[in-house]
Amino acid sequence: MANTTGKLYIRSKVGYRKSPKRLADLPLGETFVLTWYEGKSKKAKAVGRFADIAQTALINKEAELKRAALGGSASKPGFPPAPKPEKPAIAGRDFAQAVTTYLSEVKRGKSKKTYFAYNIALEGFSKVCKAETIETMTRQDVLRYTDALREGRMAPRTIANRLAFLKTFFKHFGISWPMLKTDRVKFTEKTAEAYSIEDLRRLFAAAEQEELELFEFLLGTGVREQEAMFATWRDVDFSNKTFKVSEKLDLGFTPKDKEEGSIPIPDSLVELLDARRKQYPETRLIFPMPDGRPNGHMLRSLQRLAHRAGLNCGGCYNRAGECCKDKAMCHHWGLHRFRKTFATMHHEAGVTVRTIQRWLRHSSLDTTLRYLAGSDDKSEKTRTKVNASFAAIGHQPKSSAT
Ligand SMILES: [Zn+2]
Repeated sequence: MANTTGKLYIRSKVGYRKSPKRLADLPLGETFVLTWYEGKSKKAKAVGRFADIAQTALINKEAELKRAALGGSASKPGFPPAPKPEKPAIAGRDFAQAVTTYLSEVKRGKSKKTYFAYNIALEGFSKVCKAETIETMTRQDVLRYTDALREGRMAPRTIANRLAFLKTFFKHFGISWPMLKTDRVKFTEKTAEAYSIEDLRRLFAAAEQEELELFEFLLGTGVREQEAMFATWRDVDFSNKTFKVSEKLDLGFTPKDKEEGSIPIPDSLVELLDARRKQYPETRLIFPMPDGRPNGHMLRSLQRLAHRAGLNCGGCYNRAGECCKDKAMCHHWGLHRFRKTFATMHHEAGVTVRTIQRWLRHSSLDTTLRYLAGSDDKSEKTRTKVNASFAAIGHQPKSSAT
């Protein structure tokens, strides 16, 4: 009997280790490696550092191996030529049975979170799917499911995710995905809004020195979380008052899109950093953990501070029903919003979009424009212009409807 199981390992600088059963996203510099056998030769493929992607790669690979072992589509080189199936390839597998089998398989091998996601997607699909066997599932069934999700006022992004899980189910049983390119659910990546000046004032007023330095840094440089984690003192040019995002291969850090670049920073931040440097003359990183390693808890620090400052929105709930009013878990406080605020404030101050693009190290201007879209709608300048546009008309008296 052919071996149809795959295994996930974690590759780091020091070598390989087995991955735990319940996967979690890996830190930068580590990656999941999927291994399996084709005949007697062992194959391996890096599948990134994100748990859900690695998990899906494993599920898909095992499904492919099973199909191949059954004499299905042994398309991969290394397999002996596929023998003709004895029966006309399982004339019809019961739909409900397939769902149950599949979910129990996911439950056995995968994390709770993954299981939960597949469960909810397949449960919804089962309600609207009219096919009795998985071979007879059609595009219409999937479209009906999409419509049902839309009617349930599900966000396009969530719908796209559900459909991705459904697709994995189809592929698991060797059924080709029946959807057309035009059926794809489009969604816009949500871009965070900039913080208001008032929120920032209150946040900084409640901050302790360590927090103040970190969040002033994120605001003043506009860097991404990873870039702040790996920011070193060598990246700060105190005389030219700039901060440089640079590659650190030994730490496993490469800037996104491989874009290095230098950002001018305000005097106030230079002073803050100068004082911090004197206080911590030995560290390489600007904001390290106590043991010197990169700090992966910046978001948690921000959420704690926002909670302490009484700035939580009071509208976020977790699965346990706890509210952000009572807990440091408000979704409105995120590190990326500092980057957005950085761009917005420079834009309002009159810095050109081209220059902001360079400071944000966006490879395309479109990205920067999308970033700034609507950012100045609330500004005083815009208010003046909006009023000026219609000033010539003067105040229109209510005229009788014509
Ligand atoms: Zn909240």
